[in-house]
Amino acid sequence: MSPEHVDVLVIGAGLSGIGAACHLQVECPGKSYAVLESRGAIGGTWDLFRYPGIRSDSDMFTLGYAFKPWTGAKAIADGSSIREYIVETAREYGVEEKIRFHHEVLSADWSSADARWTVTARRTDTGETVQLTCSWLSVCSGYYRYDEGFRPEFPGEERFAGELIHPQHWPQDFDATGKRIVVVGSGATAVTLVPNLADDAAHVTMLQRTPSYILSLPGKDPLAELLRSRLPAKVAYPIVRWKNVLTTTALFQASRRWPNGVRKLIRRLTAKQLPAGYDVDTHFNPPYDPWDQRLCLVPDGDLFRTLREGKASIVTDRIATFTETGIELESGEHLDADVVITATGLNLLAMGGMTLTLDGEAVDVPETVSYKGMMLSGVPNFSMVIGYTNASWTLKADLVNRYVCRLLQHMDQRGLAVATPLAPPEGADLPFLDLAAGYVQRSLAQLPKQGRRTPWRLHQNYIRDVQLMRRGPLEDEGITFSAAPVRTERAVA
Ligand SMILES: Cc1cc2nc3c(=O)[nH]c(=O)nc-3n(C[C@H](O)[C@H](O)[C@H](O)COP(=O)(O)OP(=O)(O)OC[C@H]3O[C@@H](n4cnc5c(N)ncnc54)[C@H](O)[C@@H]3O)c2cc1C
Repeated sequence: MSPEHVDVLVIGAGLSGIGAACHLQVECPGKSYAVLESRGAIGGTWDLFRYPGIRSDSDMFTLGYAFKPWTGAKAIADGSSIREYIVETAREYGVEEKIRFHHEVLSADWSSADARWTVTARRTDTGETVQLTCSWLSVCSGYYRYDEGFRPEFPGEERFAGELIHPQHWPQDFDATGKRIVVVGSGATAVTLVPNLADDAAHVTMLQRTPSYILSLPGKDPLAELLRSRLPAKVAYPIVRWKNVLTTTALFQASRRWPNGVRKLIRRLTAKQLPAGYDVDTHFNPPYDPWDQRLCLVPDGDLFRTLREGKASIVTDRIATFTETGIELESGEHLDADVVITATGLNLLAMGGMTLTLDGEAVDVPETVSYKGMMLSGVPNFSMVIGYTNASWTLKADLVNRYVCRLLQHMDQRGLAVATPLAPPEGADLPFLDLAAGYVQRSLAQLPKQGRRTPWRLHQNYIRDVQLMRRGPLEDEGITFSAAPVRTERAVA
């Protein structure tokens, strides 16, 4: 029996996959589709991470979908509100019943003769192998490993008698009361955990090797508050969304053009929130320029508040070794700890670990070139969502998911069945992501390249991408189209 066929198969039921399905539902009502999700729940990141205080570090007016206003009170929202928003969207758009949970996609093989993908998945609940075919494969599997966070091995850690926790695998019965906690790291997760543990813990120390830029943002957006009381959500939402797009784009561009000026500005804003005499230059002055790595946002300066109150402190140093009772630093200082939390990051994973083959031949993803940041050279009828590194993920996801619908409609209108991006004739040598963050640098070898010009260049610029992807041409020098192939045996028959 031949496997079940759908027009579009979406992999992943996180923010991007649910967005992709909603776009298909509305913009391509004639297409059949299914969503394969390896876990048993909707939400991806926002269902997986459960550490205290888990929240977005972008504002929800841009992390929310363009087509569904974010109506929550907070601009920087907690994980469970984001999860509920995604679930509500799936329900509202009739996507829920299209999701097949517990289907982990292992591989996809393109058949040129049939112009379709055969996708093989393993049922994570029964162990059974399932196959489906599809005409278009839309990969929305996020960018990191779900089974394991990144954690370097520390010298002497086996001696430590306390509890060692990675935020990706948070013990739900954890009680911080009265404990001395060391949080290792300086990224978004560390700066979220510190204030959220500090109220109950005896003391929280954030141990960082390198400081990050940290900016305080009002937890509630004043413009949103004002507009919401006067205008319907459908009118107020895009206004606030665009205000935030323009503000973050301006900050990013300013950081690129005047790094010293922006560095000074952030330093001044930081110093204002800390007690007089605080050593800002040791703990809040990164050796890199603003936006060489993702900037950390904290709502209503909560991290600074706990530092001011003395409930938490920051130590900038390196781990020499773990001891039975804590961590010895290279400076010789010892941090006593009952609990050490390793907020050391993610393990990047391209395409949810699935392998791609074309007529049985493996696709070497690092050898491909990304087309408009969403397709791969030489790989037909395939798209993937990888969000911005300098703005909210969903801004890009929305553009990609809408573009795929435009492309599918266009192909139907012209009687085309196959769309295959080409590599630029001059070659491509730039890494897919231009971010100095450790998890990106560790994993660039898994990702495609990007070219030096449109449509192979990833601009990391939403305003430019709106022009390119919402209004730009669908046929250009970077992509070829062909009609449905005629199978030889069918032709003979
Ligand atoms: C703690 C944390 C905070 C973040 N905060 C922000 C933020 O504030 N702003 C921002 O822009 N970005 C943020 N990000 C990035 C974040 O991942 C994206 O915003 C967004 O959630 C990504 O959505 P996604 O659907 O593409 O991926 P995910 O949320 O990772 O969802 C992917 C889904 O695909 C499924 N899947 C993966 N592989 C397979 C497979 N082989 N077969 C079947 N299913 C598969 C997964 O189970 C999951 O459900 C954050 C990330 C983390 C880890």
